[in-house]
Amino acid sequence: MNKARQLYELQEVDLEIQLRTEALAQVRSQLGKDDDLVAARSACDTVKKRLSDLEHQQKTEEWELSELGAKIAVVEKKLFGGSVKNPKELMAFQQDLEILKTQRGEREDRLLTLMMDVESSQQDASLKKSDFGKIDREWRENQQKLLQQQTELEAELAALEQKRNLVAGQIDSDSLSLYEEVRRVKQGQAVAKVMQGRCQGCRISLPVSDQQRARMGQELVQCSNCGRILYLS
Ligand SMILES: [Zn+2]
Repeated sequence: MNKARQLYELQEVDLEIQLRTEALAQVRSQLGKDDDLVAARSACDTVKKRLSDLEHQQKTEEWELSELGAKIAVVEKKLFGGSVKNPKELMAFQQDLEILKTQRGEREDRLLTLMMDVESSQQDASLKKSDFGKIDREWRENQQKLLQQQTELEAELAALEQKRNLVAGQIDSDSLSLYEEVRRVKQGQAVAKVMQGRCQGCRISLPVSDQQRARMGQELVQCSNCGRILYLS
């Protein structure tokens, strides 16, 4: 049995395991991550709070306005009711009435502005609510997908681990140790194919003798440049 070939097969399994392990970590980092959702909910709450403040101000303003109306009615009754005859008093009531009417005009303007603010705030609130609903829905769907991906990846990894045990079980311990050592140093790729006389790990041209030894497969031959285990199919 060609040792380098066995190690190459082991490496294929290990690379698959590595890919899926990374994918699983990525999936897990996204699971439960709800920054966007929290931000949307907070935006929704802010707008709701502003709307409720404005509505409260509007009620207060309406109440003040009706109080003012009552005051005006009292003064008008005195002015035009005939009970007050004294011209000085009448003039004073006349002045009061004008002041009150000016105040009423100002309050009416304020109320109008408030009503417009309330209306635009209502639109804003309903927009933010529907934004939140959309983000919430998408978030739930996405989390569901991530959970499914997690389950799939875990199952695939379990199967790959089994396969790895099987493949590794047929390799002698010295070869395995060398493989693990080079793999650690080369961060994943311990075995390099030889194609057209070149090590595919570092692309250097290999001495013919090394190529021949590698082709025999009786012993493990390492690239003289990068140290990877050479595999000639
Ligand atoms: Zn090399």
